[in-house]
Amino acid sequence: MARIVMKFGGTSVADLDRIRNVAARIKREVEAGNEVAVVVSAMAGATNQLVAWCAQLSTLHDAREYDSVVSTGEQVTSGLMAIALQTLGVKARSWQGWQIPLETDLAHGKARIEHIAGERLLASMRSGEVSVVAGFQGIGPDGRITTLGRGGSDTSAVALAAALKADRCDIYTDVDGVYTTDPRIVPRARKLPRIAYEEMLELASVGAKVLQTRSVELAMKQRVRVQVLSSFDDGTSLGGDLPGTLVVDEDEIVEKEIVSGIAYSRDEAKLTVRGVPDQPGIAAAIFGPLSAASINVDMIVQDVSADGTTDLTFTLSRSDLPRAMKVLEENKAKVGFATLAADKAVAKISVVGVGMRSHAGVASTMFQTLATKGINVQVISTSEIKVSVLIAEEYTELAVRALHTAYGLDA
Ligand code: ASP
Ligand code: MG
Repeated sequence: MARIVMKFGGTSVADLDRIRNVAARIKREVEAGNEVAVVVSAMAGATNQLVAWCAQLSTLHDAREYDSVVSTGEQVTSGLMAIALQTLGVKARSWQGWQIPLETDLAHGKARIEHIAGERLLASMRSGEVSVVAGFQGIGPDGRITTLGRGGSDTSAVALAAALKADRCDIYTDVDGVYTTDPRIVPRARKLPRIAYEEMLELASVGAKVLQTRSVELAMKQRVRVQVLSSFDDGTSLGGDLPGTLVVDEDEIVEKEIVSGIAYSRDEAKLTVRGVPDQPGIAAAIFGPLSAASINVDMIVQDVSADGTTDLTFTLSRSDLPRAMKVLEENKAKVGFATLAADKAVAKISVVGVGMRSHAGVASTMFQTLATKGINVQVISTSEIKVSVLIAEEYTELAVRALHTAYGLDA
């Protein structure tokens, strides 16, 4: 017998037929003798609609009311799933965040989980009842409903698995696992049987959006074994050889690949600040105001100075570009730069793998491969387990395909 948290994303509960299918799958886990807590997302598209309604009424809406509106998508699916389970003869009840309670901080719209009291859920599970938890939502110190940020029901599930000391946290989604790269670009991409938390974090933050980044951080911190799997295969292997991808500690991966995956992100822009005086305090003068405006900067390069001035180039999220330019223009006198040059037609390509720690030559293979294809590298950044380059956006597919082959990842 195992204690399992099963989380179903929006596409898995998109309509009543799918909810019935999911209920049947949960029933199989219960009949196998397991204690089950279920976390559900809102039906596909429901949250977008709720968010749009708030925005249409007011661009500066009260974040507490936003939470009270957008949390309802999950309230609906948790109740429907409990009904579907009961219809199949499975004892079940729904739980809203505040009923558990799942306590968060006060950051309405992007709250962080602070504490989950597992006792009531555990008592209900021990009595043979399936707990169907509304994902994405909690209760703040102000006693009001909070939500965890878009994609947050992954984080609800992982946090619940940690609080309930579950043996597994199974995340059912519309893909059947984590791939070496996006199969839409590289049809010969392979599904990874296992991936290390750290690799998953790098892949998630550079654009492979299978799990909410925060959920992976939490899983790594709390050592929750996360299994990503499809809610659309027939599920005969449930409980045995699970067919998806297991996200686990690096030590559990015996055959460490040097490169496990290639990620790309088109949500990038490049900003060059030209003609800044090459003297102490300039980087602080540029990046201080940006961070004060909550603008995240990613890759940074600074040229050697020729005539006492230098150029400083950095990348940021494309949607932040207009704000970043405004902030810098406002600080032009203080920084003392000459001009700003922006480029939105860029993409970031990253190769990721924990095996890189103990292997040389990963970066040079990357540069060589891109050179052979005539792709110019504009900015480079590295970490212990990642090499990223910024290139012209039009070469994204070509670069991903070429690198996938170069690192021997093709199926
Ligand atoms: N329904 C929420 C969203 O779309 C939370 C989730 O699905 O994870 O962001
Ligand atoms: Mg999701």
